[in-house]
Amino acid sequence: MATVTLKKGRDKSVRHRHPWIFSGAIARVEGDPAPGATVAVQAADGTPLGRGAWSPESQITVRLWSTDPAALIDEAFFRNRLSQALASRPPLTAGDNAQRLVNGEPDGLPGLIVDRYADFLVCQIFSAGAEHWKDTIVGLLRELTGCTGIYERSEAEVRDKEGLPRCCGRLAGAEPPPLIEIGEGGFRYLVDIRQGHKTGFYLDQRDNRARVARYCREASVLNCFAYSGGFAVAALGNGARLVENIDSSAAALALARQNIALNGFDPDRAQFTDGDVFRMLRRYVEEGRRFDVVVLDPPKFIESRRHLERASRGYKDINLFAFRLLNPGGILATFSCSGLMDRELFERTVAYAALDAGREARVLEWLDQAADHPAALHFPEGKYLKGLICRAW
Ligand code: SAH
Repeated sequence: MATVTLKKGRDKSVRHRHPWIFSGAIARVEGDPAPGATVAVQAADGTPLGRGAWSPESQITVRLWSTDPAALIDEAFFRNRLSQALASRPPLTAGDNAQRLVNGEPDGLPGLIVDRYADFLVCQIFSAGAEHWKDTIVGLLRELTGCTGIYERSEAEVRDKEGLPRCCGRLAGAEPPPLIEIGEGGFRYLVDIRQGHKTGFYLDQRDNRARVARYCREASVLNCFAYSGGFAVAALGNGARLVENIDSSAAALALARQNIALNGFDPDRAQFTDGDVFRMLRRYVEEGRRFDVVVLDPPKFIESRRHLERASRGYKDINLFAFRLLNPGGILATFSCSGLMDRELFERTVAYAALDAGREARVLEWLDQAADHPAALHFPEGKYLKGLICRAW
């Protein structure tokens, strides 16, 4: 096994169990590890620190599998980690059958995401190490979950950074149907695991959909960045009078329409606008429109620190216009899933938006990612989703 020796003073994060070792922290490599191969990691003075996967193309050149220097990285290791991840999931409400089963680093499996949609699993493999062990992982997932089939959606840009080709398709078991029906919070949704975003559905918003929906009784709701109608279905199911959905993807809106019909809601209670939220919010303000509830669930605007300022302006902009669109006493449910924008900056941005809109906003609830998307205390990068429910006067 090749050995990676860290530079002097660069072992602190590993000792604190952070799983990433950046190229700049490495003094030398003995041996010639292949991408994804297991390497031994040691401090500058030779103290063994753990074992990880070698990823020469990435800035994150080693992702630690274990901080136990004697750990064997083999099938038994993955059986143990996967079993632990499955056992760590919070209990599902009766009728629910969609859940994140493996959440990468916080579950001790760097670069591996596994989501369950009814009887099928969808995997995303984002590291050379997880790619190296793919067949083992897939075999174990079948055995441990008894799923009907496993599908891969490893398409994100991180694959490029790891020097991995983008991969998509059936990995094991049966070919999944074009749309998989799932249950969440008493509602039904169709998930397109082939063409949908990420693995097909935003499971991280499960709890928040239910929390926000409670404020929607008799309300007129503007659901911005609607995707396949997650918040729309929950709002209608909680008695919303009307939900207007805006998204720039016609395919997403078509699925939102299907999801609303699937739950038996009157189609007249939903509207769909294929457009840019930034432009539509401005137009609605000009037209003098008002809503009781506005939901803002934008995609990740920030890919790197360089974009932080421009992205903050984007968040400020949509929140400012959303506040202007609210009736007195109306509810703004606003989110950011950009890990680089921390909670403090997000809250400051929303505070300035309220100020500039001339509204007084009271935070009723602080929201987080769902519990099946755990973060680890030693891995702050795992916390990315944050939200606020504000009442605005
Ligand atoms: N709220 C959704 C998830 C939203 S994901 C849920 O609970 O399932 C973000 C969505 O924003 C995607 O559907 C994407 O198509 C859409 N989007 C991205 N940029 C947009 C823009 N400028 N205007 C409108 N929609 C946009």
